[in-house]
Amino acid sequence: MSRSTSLNSDPSAVPSEPGDYDQLPPQVFRQAVEQSALAISITDAHAHIVYANPAFQRVTGYTLPEVIGRNESILSYRVTPPIVYESMWAQLLRQKPWNGLLVNRRKDGSRYLADLTITPVLDEEQNITHYLGMHRDVTEMHRLERQVRNQKTLIESVVDAAQVAMVLLDSRERVLLSNQTYKKLIGDLAPDPAQLLLSALEREVPAFDRVNALASGFAPLEVRIDRQDREPLWFSCAGSLIDEQDTSAEAFYENRGYRYMLLVVQDISELKRQQDHIRASGLRALLTEQERVRSVRETLSGAIYQLGGPLNMIAAAAKLLERQPQLDQQALKKMFDDVLRVGGMTLDNLNASIPALAQEPLQPVNLNAILQNVLWILTPRLLGLGIVVEWRPESLLPNVNGLPTSLTMLFKQLLDNAIEGIDAKRQGTREISVTTLAREDHVEVLIEDSGAGIAAELQSRVFEPFFTTKTRGQPHIGMGLTMAQDVVMRHEGLIEIDSATGQGCQVRVQIPYV
Ligand code: FAD
Repeated sequence: MSRSTSLNSDPSAVPSEPGDYDQLPPQVFRQAVEQSALAISITDAHAHIVYANPAFQRVTGYTLPEVIGRNESILSYRVTPPIVYESMWAQLLRQKPWNGLLVNRRKDGSRYLADLTITPVLDEEQNITHYLGMHRDVTEMHRLERQVRNQKTLIESVVDAAQVAMVLLDSRERVLLSNQTYKKLIGDLAPDPAQLLLSALEREVPAFDRVNALASGFAPLEVRIDRQDREPLWFSCAGSLIDEQDTSAEAFYENRGYRYMLLVVQDISELKRQQDHIRASGLRALLTEQERVRSVRETLSGAIYQLGGPLNMIAAAAKLLERQPQLDQQALKKMFDDVLRVGGMTLDNLNASIPALAQEPLQPVNLNAILQNVLWILTPRLLGLGIVVEWRPESLLPNVNGLPTSLTMLFKQLLDNAIEGIDAKRQGTREISVTTLAREDHVEVLIEDSGAGIAAELQSRVFEPFFTTKTRGQPHIGMGLTMAQDVVMRHEGLIEIDSATGQGCQVRVQIPYV
C-alpha cells in the first residue's frame, strides 16, 4: 500500500511493460477489491477487521459497522476443531498464506462452509501488519461432493453385495473395477476370470466377436468351463457399455470420454445340474414308457397266440358236433375237458406273462418339476403340431408323497390325450393350459385343451379298460386312461374329466400331500 504514493493518477494509463503496474491509478486496486465477487476482508495483526468488501457483507449478513474492529472469530460456528485454527495460525506466523475450510455462521445464525485463504501482509521490515482474507461460500459444492461420495459408497456396497460377479474392463481388457463376487471367482478361474470367460465365449459361441463385444456389449450368453477332476462350471455372461466423460481440464469444452464394458457374470452351474437332472429323469421316464409299450405288445401278441389253442379246439369240437350230431355224452365231456384244460393253461400262461409293476419307492415329489419334465419331453411334438402351451404353475408348491415315474407317465398320458384331441379337431385354437394349485390337503393339476372333447354320454366310460373313442386303425387300445386312473388310485387321489363335444377337455387330478 505504501507504493501507492508513487502511482500515476492518469486513469487511462497503461502499464509500459508486463508486470509494471506502477502506472495503475490507486483507485483501481480499491475498486477491484470493492467489486470482487469474493468475500474480502482485511484485519490487523490480531485478526480484528479493518475492512470488508460488499461481497463479504452479502455472504456473512453483517454490515460494515457491525464488523469493523471485531475479530474474525465473529464468523466462527465453533465446530471447527481447534487444531485447524492452530495450524492456520502457525502457518500465518511463519508468514505463509493459509487455505482451508471453516464452518462459519452468518449474522442470522445460518451456517455455511467457507473456503478461506488468508495472506499475511508485510511491511518493509518484514513484519506482519495486516492479514488479507478471501473466502467464498462452498456449501453447495460440498453438499454435491458429499452426495457424489455417498452415492459412490452406496453403489459400491450394493455392487459388492450382489450375488453376480461384475468387472469393468477397458478397451484393452484391463480390469478397472471388480466386486467381491468377481474376486471370489478368481479362486475357480485363476488368474484372470474375465480373460478366461471371454476366451471360452470366443471358442464356444460362433457368433461371439470379442472385439465387437468390447465396443458394443453383448446379450447374455452361456459358457461352460471344464476343470480337471472336478465338475464343469457354467456361467451366464453379459456385457454392457459404460461411457465416462473425460475429467481432465483440457477436455472441459470438448465432449470426449472413454468407453468401458461392464462384464456381468452369473454362476449357473447349479441350475445347469438341475436341468441335466430333469432331462435325465425325463429320458428315464421316456424309456420306461417305451419299455411298457413294448411289454404290452409282447403280452398281447402272446395272448393272441395262446388264445389260438383253445379257440382251435372249440372250432374242432364244433366241427365234430356238426359232422356227428349224435356224439355220446362221454366223448362230449372229454372234448369239453380238453378245451377247459387248454383254456386253463392259457389263462395261467397269460397271468404269468403280465409284466410286473416297476418297484418304485414312494418319495417326496414336486408335481411342478414332473410336469415341466413331461412338457420338455413333449416339446418337439407340440412344436410340430403348432400347439401353444400355457404353463401356470403354483409358485410355492408343496411336495406330494408319490411315485415319480408313474406320475410322469400319468401326466404324459393326459397330455398325449390333449394333443390328440386338438389334432383331431383340425381347426380352431390349438392350446393346452397346464395349471397346478396348492389346495388345503392336496395338489390339484388342471389340464385343459381346446380339442375335440368327449361326448357327454361317453364320459362315464373313458376309464373302462379297452374303451376308446378312436376309430380303428389308430394305434390305441383304450388303456391310457385306465392306467392313468390306476396311478391316481395308487396315490389315493382323484381324477375326473369334464368335457363337451367340440369344446375341449378339462382333466382334474388331485394328489394328496401324504
Ligand atoms: P482464538 O482464541 O481466536 O484462536 C485459536 C488459536 O489460534 C489459538 O491457539 C490462538 O493462540 C491462535 N491465534 C488466534 N489469534 C492469533 C493471532 N492473532 N496470532 C497468533 N495466533 C493466534 N475464523 C473463522 O472461524 N472464520 C473465518 O471466516 C475467519 N476468517 C479469518 C480471516 C482472517 C483474515 C484472519 C486473520 C482470521 C480469520 N479467522 C476466521 C480466524 C479467527 O480470527 C479466529 O482465530 C478463529 O475464529 C478461532 O477463534 P477462537 O475464538 O475460537 O480462537
